[in-house]
Amino acid sequence: MTSPVWHPFTQHGLAEPIPLVTHAEGAALHTADGRRVVDAISSWWVTTHGHRHPRISAAIAEQAARLDQIIFAGWTHEPAERLARGLRRIMPETLAYVFFSDSGSTSVEVALKMALGYWANRNEPRHRILVLEHSYHGDTIGAMSVGARGVFNAPYAPLLFDVGVIPFPHGDGQATLDALEAAAQDHPAAFIVEPLILGAGGMLTYPPRLLAEMRAVCERHGVLFIADEVMTGWGRTGTLLACEQAGVTPDLLCLSKGLTGGSLPLAVTMATEPIYDAHLSTDRARMFFHSSSYTANPIACAAAVANLEVWRDEPVLDRVADLACRQRERLDGLATLPGVRNPRALGTIAAVDLEDAQGGYLSDLAPRLLARFRDADLLLRPLGNTVYVMPPYCIDDADLDRIYAAIGEAAEDIA
Ligand code: PLP
Repeated sequence: MTSPVWHPFTQHGLAEPIPLVTHAEGAALHTADGRRVVDAISSWWVTTHGHRHPRISAAIAEQAARLDQIIFAGWTHEPAERLARGLRRIMPETLAYVFFSDSGSTSVEVALKMALGYWANRNEPRHRILVLEHSYHGDTIGAMSVGARGVFNAPYAPLLFDVGVIPFPHGDGQATLDALEAAAQDHPAAFIVEPLILGAGGMLTYPPRLLAEMRAVCERHGVLFIADEVMTGWGRTGTLLACEQAGVTPDLLCLSKGLTGGSLPLAVTMATEPIYDAHLSTDRARMFFHSSSYTANPIACAAAVANLEVWRDEPVLDRVADLACRQRERLDGLATLPGVRNPRALGTIAAVDLEDAQGGYLSDLAPRLLARFRDADLLLRPLGNTVYVMPPYCIDDADLDRIYAAIGEAAEDIA
């Protein structure tokens, strides 16, 4: 019997094999048919320390035996309180409040709603959201609205709201800054960005200076600045937050993925005092209207507390720096191959674009590469013609060699 499971971003009509994973450890996935697969993309960018970090797994087991779930509207629990205090200690000081949700997309929805709620409660309603071209912020309606439009959201266009699109920075980025400056004059509510690197849009990087300058434009015009660090947070780009590299502090910060070390779904939106204060009143109509049943699930919060302890007690950023260096060496090797374009790296993220023999980019390249990498026991999931590597920080040299050898062979075969 065929499986009744309907998978995300999967075309079942193509009858591609769907590997059944039975267990995982560190950078390795083990399948039911006995294969050891290298998790080269940290299972969709989440498993920062590797699968089943013992400390996080232990915290999950312990919390599951104590308190599994509790309503969070008007009630609280120790893991959420400890996590919020811990986040306040390590995140920028001005981000004084922590709102919980369950995924990167919902952390973005929350940030957008907080931005509009802020302006509404100040009786200066502002509605327009500015976004950076090629961005990806998730697949819920608001998150899709502020992300790039394309084949993946065309059928749902009637559900999406209009946004102001600021061109992605090229060269000195002046065109971007000018467009932002012009758009900021019209009193938009907020500007949302993926700091330093646009992930699903193709691992497109831009320099910290431009992030700082975009922040400055927003500040000058009183436009709320939302940093979506769902992918970039937790060391991915070499620092705990990518914003740090630009000396930027956002008004709203979205975090998920590595928040629990990639073990359980959880997200937070951190907000400044003025945004919290705008909702603070004896008037119930001014509260922040958002929740979901599992908001701040205690087991997920306990996993995130354990993640903070791993960050406190282990040399995570040293591992990140070491991995960045080891990837750089291998990326330099790839860069010399025919058909490899735009090698780029930021912290633990490395990417190249592959070009076909005709010089044009093949639209069916990604599925062919996906199948090829799967047959080579690698979890690598190209974005169009962009092949990127974003492994867990614990990956060893032998596994990295396998990844880069497979990408190199693919590049040579298609060139
Ligand atoms: N924002 C960014 C920058 C992301 O990269 C992603 C996911 O890849 C999201 C938001 C959405 O997160 P989730 O898939 O957890 O909803």
